[in-house]
Amino acid sequence: MELYELTIHELHEKLKKREVSSVEATRAFLDRIESVDPRVNAFITVTADEALKAAEEADRRIAAGETTILTGIPVALKDIFLTQGVRTTCASRILDTFIPPYDATSWVKLKERGAVLVGKLNQDEFAMGSSCESSAFGPTRNPWNLECIPGGSSGGSAAAIAAREATATLGTDTGGSIRQPASHCGCVGLKPTYGRVSRYGVIAYASSLDQVGPMTRDVADCAIMLGAVAGYDPLDSTSIDRPVPDYTASLGPEVTGLKIGLPKEYFIAGLDPDVKKTLDAAIDTYKRLGAEFVEISLPHTDYAVATYYLIATAEASSNLARYDGVRFGHRAKEAAGLIDMFARSRAEGFGAEVKRRIMLGTYALSSGYYDAYYLKAQRVRTLIMHDFLQAFATVDVILTPVAPTPAFRIGEKVNDPLQMYLSDIFTIPVNLAGTCGISVPAGMSGDGLPIGLQLVGRPFGEEAILRAAYAFEQATEWHKQKAQL
Ligand code: GLN
Repeated sequence: MELYELTIHELHEKLKKREVSSVEATRAFLDRIESVDPRVNAFITVTADEALKAAEEADRRIAAGETTILTGIPVALKDIFLTQGVRTTCASRILDTFIPPYDATSWVKLKERGAVLVGKLNQDEFAMGSSCESSAFGPTRNPWNLECIPGGSSGGSAAAIAAREATATLGTDTGGSIRQPASHCGCVGLKPTYGRVSRYGVIAYASSLDQVGPMTRDVADCAIMLGAVAGYDPLDSTSIDRPVPDYTASLGPEVTGLKIGLPKEYFIAGLDPDVKKTLDAAIDTYKRLGAEFVEISLPHTDYAVATYYLIATAEASSNLARYDGVRFGHRAKEAAGLIDMFARSRAEGFGAEVKRRIMLGTYALSSGYYDAYYLKAQRVRTLIMHDFLQAFATVDVILTPVAPTPAFRIGEKVNDPLQMYLSDIFTIPVNLAGTCGISVPAGMSGDGLPIGLQLVGRPFGEEAILRAAYAFEQATEWHKQKAQL
């Protein structure tokens, strides 16, 4: 097997035994990126020189016996994570020359463990989207079918895994942006509980929803990455001071007696037949492994998308107010005074979808409408959270589809924002509830596109969903399938 096809745990074994060096592994990825990325466009920036330097340092550490599981492992980050000295664009023209003066905490944690950064990954602009088409750097393509979207907003993070351009990546998930692209690209993606991972140095979209999480080739790697980035950070007041379990130790093939909830609102008529078939087969697999299924109800599901698009846009309109052409980012060249400079810089710098979100959010927060929209949405959010807590009184995990369809074609939904928004119907409620969810490869469509299944856990129940996902993975072969590139 080529070095770029290995998981973290496989490559780690080879590095530890000194069968290969981190420089060799890093070179293998840089060559792979050079050969496939012109077709996939998963990367906005490739950090070849920095990567080789970091790999040399990792090799020194390995020689000195200071190896962690991540030492010398080539990884890549969604371009929403600040990386000191390395351009960070959030896939927006407004930040296209922005060089951050400091690092995101999650990246600091990976770096301290010796991970090697090979580059920064494409995404929807400011993480607003489900297809990676709103990037100012052109769409990322799905490695399984280059005519299809990879999902979004962490589309580059998922495509880079599927195209074997990085061993593991980080994404962010505000309404599904880790799980949905993971499902569409056939990799594992986990959105941790709100507060589990620091967001310090992650460009904010909707602050009450955003979470950082891993995207990997298998569940064991997902546990490794989560363990590395999770934990309290004094620099992020929303991160929670709670011990980080040994996620790797919680993995096992046993699910006997596990109670899995099936929310009736998620198994609706109109679900794509390939998605339905995949879920049915997954349920059979779990039954064979000894899990028990219970029908549950999450009665406020119907309101989730509307609630999300009020809260997320309101928070986005406030977070994005900082891009004014003064402190950093793009500034319009010609302007008649300060206000005109603000307006022109923003008009030139933001893309259409970002502008739409800012306008929707500003409207929802405006004084005459605040009670009717934003406040109401906050109340419905509490009801949605209660739906989940109530369900978890009787079940251990909840199994659902990740997305209503497999990856769609590039261009298919760009002119229909509502259709695009509906593609997150099964992932958004998890963010509103603030809890955790994972997507694992579970099947393949008739057209050869991967389909994931979602397992939702209790708040801080990452161990349970990782364990359930691991048992499924061990019993199936889906994670071994490879996109032909
Ligand atoms: N597609 C959703 C949105 O556009 C979710 C994006 C995300 O999770 N960042 O807001």
